[in-house]
Amino acid sequence: MKINRNYKNLNESYLFSTIAKKVQEFSAKNKNIEIIKLGIGDVTLPLCPAVIEALHNAVDEMSQKETFKGYGPEQGYDFLKNSIQNYYKKNNVSIDADEIFISDGAKSDLGNILDLFDKDNTVLIPDPVYPVYVDTNTMAGRNIVFIDANEENNFLPLPDENIKCDIIYICSPNNPTGATYNNEQLKLWVNYALKNNAVILYDSAYESFISEDNLPKSIYEIEDAKKCAIEFCSFSKTAGFTGTRCGYTVVPKELVFDEMSLNNMWLRRQTTKFNGVPYIVQKGASAVFTDVGQKQIQENLSYYKNNAKVITDTLDKLNIKYTGGKNSPYIWLKCPDNMNSWDFFDMLLTKIGVVGTPGAGFGKNGDGWFRLTSFNTFEKTTEAMERFYNLLK
Ligand code: PLP
Repeated sequence: MKINRNYKNLNESYLFSTIAKKVQEFSAKNKNIEIIKLGIGDVTLPLCPAVIEALHNAVDEMSQKETFKGYGPEQGYDFLKNSIQNYYKKNNVSIDADEIFISDGAKSDLGNILDLFDKDNTVLIPDPVYPVYVDTNTMAGRNIVFIDANEENNFLPLPDENIKCDIIYICSPNNPTGATYNNEQLKLWVNYALKNNAVILYDSAYESFISEDNLPKSIYEIEDAKKCAIEFCSFSKTAGFTGTRCGYTVVPKELVFDEMSLNNMWLRRQTTKFNGVPYIVQKGASAVFTDVGQKQIQENLSYYKNNAKVITDTLDKLNIKYTGGKNSPYIWLKCPDNMNSWDFFDMLLTKIGVVGTPGAGFGKNGDGWFRLTSFNTFEKTTEAMERFYNLLK
C-alpha cells in the first residue's frame, strides 16, 4: 500500500490552538480580568423561531408512518431547491433547480468538488484566505500559485495575465479580510477564466452580510459567469446553521470542459459518494426563505452588523486602516505602529483582555494585520472596543 504522501506537505495549523493556549495561560494568572473574545468565527445567536418550528414539524413527520422519510434525493429535496431558485431570482439570477445541489455545508463541497478535476491542474489561490482551499489542494498534490491580496490592492487582487492557471478560488465577501468584489472586478475574473479555459470556484458563504446594494451577492450576476463558475453557499452564517449543517452548490449546465458536463459529473459524484442532507435539516433550511424566516434572519444579521459598526466606528476614531465590516462579519485592521500580528495579539490580550485573530495565520500577506469579528454580544463588543480605544488613543 502506498500512502498519500501529500499529507506530509500540509502545514500544521497552530493558529487557533496557539490562541487558546495563550488565552488560557493569561486568564489562569489574571483571574480578575474578564476576557472578551472578538476572534470568534462562529455565530452565537440561536436559530430563528421559523426554523425551529419547521424542524419540530419535520421531527413529528418522521414519527408517523404516512409522513416518515427514508433516503431522499442525494442532490436535495425540490422544496428547498425551489426556494433557493426563487432567492436567486430576487437578485435577477435565473438558475434551474437541477443546477442546485444541497450540501451539508460549503466546506465539504469546496473540498469534494476537486474530485472533478485532474491532479495536474494549477490552482490560483489568494493570500490571505480561508485555509481550506490550500489544504484540500495540497492533499491532492496540486500545484498552487498564490496571488497577493494586500494593502495596495485593498485585499482584492485582480487577474494577472502572466499567471496561467486552471482553477481559481474567489471568496467574496472574504474571510478573513471582509473585502468584497464589485461587478466590474468580478467581470475581469470571469473574462480571465474564459480566456484561460479555467474554472472559478466562488465561495459566497458570507453573501447575506452584503449591505451595499451595488455589490454582487452571486457571481452569476456577472454576464457569462455560468460558463466558468461554480458557486458555493451556506446557511451557516446566513441563518446560524454552523451546528445544524446545510449549504448549497450551484453547478450550471453551461459548464462543459473537454466535452464533459460538470453538472452531470457532480450529480454522478454526489449520487455515488453522498446520501443527502437529513430531511429534517432541509425543512429547517427551507423555512429561512419564508417571509417570516427572512425577517427573522435579517434581525440576527442586523445584530451582527451593528456590532461590526461598533468596531469600525472605533477604528475610524483612532484612524486605523481596515477593510470589511460593512459587507462582512469580519473587520481586518492594520496593526498600529507597524507591529506584527502576534505582537499586537499579545498586547491586546495582556493589556486589555481582548482576543482577536492574528492575520499571519491566514497567509504571508496577513502579517501586520488582525481580524476582529462581530459575532460576540453587543455589550461585550462595546466593552471590548472601549478598552481598545483607551489603549490606543
Ligand atoms: N467558506 C468560508 C469562507 C468560511 O469562512 C467558512 C466557515 O467559516 C466556510 C466556507 C464553511 O462553511 P460551512 O459551515 O457551510 O461548511
